[in-house]
This record gives sequence, structure tokens and C-alpha cells, in this order.
Amino acid sequence: MKLIFLGAPGAGKGTQAQNVCKLLSVPAISTGSIIRDAMKSGTEAGLAAKEYVEAGNLVPDEMVIKMLQDRIALPDCKNGYILDGFPRNLPQAQALDRMGIIIDMVVDIEVPDDIILERLVGRRICEQCGAGYHITHKPSAKGDKCELCGGPLITREDDTPQVVRDRLKVYHDQTEPLKDHYHAAGKLAVVAGTGDIGDITKMVMAVLGA
Ligand code: AMP
Repeated sequence: MKLIFLGAPGAGKGTQAQNVCKLLSVPAISTGSIIRDAMKSGTEAGLAAKEYVEAGNLVPDEMVIKMLQDRIALPDCKNGYILDGFPRNLPQAQALDRMGIIIDMVVDIEVPDDIILERLVGRRICEQCGAGYHITHKPSAKGDKCELCGGPLITREDDTPQVVRDRLKVYHDQTEPLKDHYHAAGKLAVVAGTGDIGDITKMVMAVLGA
């Protein structure tokens, strides 16, 4: 099964992709994580991406499309995958079409902007393993250390209030039009992304008919 999880930054795409991928036994692929890993390891692509990510802008299409192509060529993707954070604009969606990739369904996770802002500014991630937390909604039982690996919890550089506002603008201008694109293709399912995380996972599974 090949799925796209669409939604604003902080809508919970990553969290839901992690939950649903376990239930469907396919990998969740986050282009944001791939880019952050590349930045951390200081690869050429990572260094080139840094200025865009830190300004809340999209990384150039050709760069992110190449990263995605390399990732989905790996053997664990042979039975499908969940794309989290890709495509982010129409040219990226068209690139998927050109690659001959047939998407089964696009799940749009809807969350109002004011809730997004509160979620992202309070978000913390483990510097070591990338696990996600929130200062009030999902604090780590180990304080400022990751529950899973003990790594330090940090605020992503692009989770400052100004950069979050910029990312939301990019989302509304460039990514949201994809809803119409996939609706026209009869592939869009909308799920409310507010409320209990487990309940949202159940709603996602329900729209997938799984
Ligand atoms: P995310 O973790 O999905 O919120 O992504 C973090 C940042 O990585 C975004 O704000 C962009 O700068 C970059 N990024 C992630 N996915 C894409 C994509 N598909 N196209 C362009 N930039 C991306």
C-alpha cells in the first residue's frame, strides 16, 4: 500500500505515520527526517538544505526528489510505504507520477493554525534518535532526556514562533493546493487531527478501510 499523509507542519503526520506503519507493516518515510539526518552528518546535500530548512522554506525540488528516490529504492519499500512530508507542492506530486508511482490514498490530517503554533513551539525532539515529545502534551518521563535512548531533548531550529508562521504560510500557499489535486483524482480522505492520538489513528485506519 502506498500512502501520502498530508497536513500542515505539526498536524501529526509523523506521529500518525509511525502508528499506522506498524499496523500496516510498511515503512514511514519522512523527507524532513532524511533532510535533518543529512544536515547532521554534514553531507553536501545536508549543507545545501540547511539554509532553506532554517528559514522555514522548502528545500529545492530536485534535491528532495533525489533523496526520496534513493529511499524508496531500498528493499523495505517493496510492499509499499507511507510518505510523510512529501509531496509538498505540485511539481513534487507530478514527479511521483513521472516515476510511475501509483498512490492508493492520501490522508489529509486537518488542524487549525492556532493549535499548530502551540504544538510546534512546545515540541521537543531527541537529538539522538529523533523521537518526538511536547512540553505539556507529551513530556518525557526522563525530564530533558529521551525515554527511549536517553539522548538530549532539543527544540528544532525551525520550531521558533517566527519560523513556524513562515512554514504555515508555505504550507497554505504551496502544499494545500495538493488537496484539490488528490481530491480530483478521487484519492483524498480527510481526518480531524485534534484530540486523542490513538483515536486519530483509529480514524485514519477506518478511512483506509484497514
Ligand atoms: P518536516 O519535518 O516535514 O516538517 O520538514 C522540515 C523541513 O524540511 C521543511 O520545513 C522543509 O524545509 C524541509 N522539507 C521536508 N520535506 C520537504 C519536501 N518534500 N520538499 C521540500 N522541503 C522539504
